Amino acid sequence: MFEAVTSQIRSFFPNRDFIPLHEPKFIGREKEYLAATIDSTFVSSVGKFVDRFEEMMRDYTGTGHAVATVNGTAALHAALVVAGVTAGDEVITQPLTFVATANAISYCGAQPVFLDVDCDTMGLSPDALRAFLEEHTEQSGNSCRNKTTGRRIRACVPMHTFGHPCRIEEIADLCRTHNLFLIEDAAESLGSTRVGKQTGTFGTLGVYSFNGNKTITCGGGGAIVTNDKTLAAHAKHLTTTAKKPHPYLYEHDEVGFNYRMPNLNAALACAQLENLDRFLADKRELAELYRNFFSTQPAIDFVAEPEGTRANHWLNTILLTDRPTRDLFLAETNEAGIQTRPAWTLLNRLKIYGHCRTDGLVNATWLAERIVNIPSSVRL
Ligand SMILES: *Cc1c(COP(=O)(O)O)cnc(C)c1O
Repeated sequence: MFEAVTSQIRSFFPNRDFIPLHEPKFIGREKEYLAATIDSTFVSSVGKFVDRFEEMMRDYTGTGHAVATVNGTAALHAALVVAGVTAGDEVITQPLTFVATANAISYCGAQPVFLDVDCDTMGLSPDALRAFLEEHTEQSGNSCRNKTTGRRIRACVPMHTFGHPCRIEEIADLCRTHNLFLIEDAAESLGSTRVGKQTGTFGTLGVYSFNGNKTITCGGGGAIVTNDKTLAAHAKHLTTTAKKPHPYLYEHDEVGFNYRMPNLNAALACAQLENLDRFLADKRELAELYRNFFSTQPAIDFVAEPEGTRANHWLNTILLTDRPTRDLFLAETNEAGIQTRPAWTLLNRLKIYGHCRTDGLVNATWLAERIVNIPSSVRL
């Protein structure tokens, strides 16, 4: 039924039996940096590549501070802790996201509140956020309180789905007027911009991931960026077991985490980041090929980058007409050796998050039944 699609995808990735959804690309100085790290013996918690990577992330995102972490989930967790999220708080996020977004909230003893997304960006909808804040919250002192539960809502964590920037500046305005701490889950959107500004830099804190399936990878890794010097210092301290600096004494002034990025991973991360702009140009080209092709396929919609944005095109996304058609598409393409996958199960539908508050989730529900991600690797 979808022969035209499978043969088109095969033509974009020629001479491949199996076409993965997203594979890493190592065409830069990865081996050189890794060998230098091994030769130096500084493979673990300290080393020059960690410092260099943090500096490169600052430069790339145009922020004042960057803290490298062992993975993106740890970065999210640490960001929430330094934002002051504590047990009993509520944190607003979207249900259409990878489970790590909500898990990090849970690690703090806080509860996610799942609000709807926009259909075009697939990220948290400022309209849904505004409606929820107006109807269900009140300001008390300098904090935002959920009138129904009596709990403090400390933060909001929107996610830039598949690399498409959400309407983040409107969300930032709402967070400002309602005393919510804005933490962007930019795990999927490194290099994506909205009105010329990098995703991850609109909030007080932004978080990235360098997992194996992301736009660039260092095996496992993450980063927090911020312009707030105090928060950055706290994030660094907290992710390095909260050890007070001293040549040999071990003193820790809070319960910290062993979340730092090893120097070995940082070596890989530096080499990958050096090639990010090339990767982005190549991914933009593929997205354009897909967009042109799917414009000839009446029953399939290609999700183009939202207006006013430049997406990193991490995972190209199409919408099928309904769930049965989507399931047919998934079965046929995967059987043909072309890896495709549906959206994550909406987090409010997981047993672990079934008790959490939601709004109507009309768009998230509609999208979750129709989304399919298609092969999106860099082809250089
Ligand atoms: C990948 C990802 C993370 C966290 O990634 P790690 O695998 O822990 O590095 C967090 N949120 C979203 C939306 C992601 O896609």
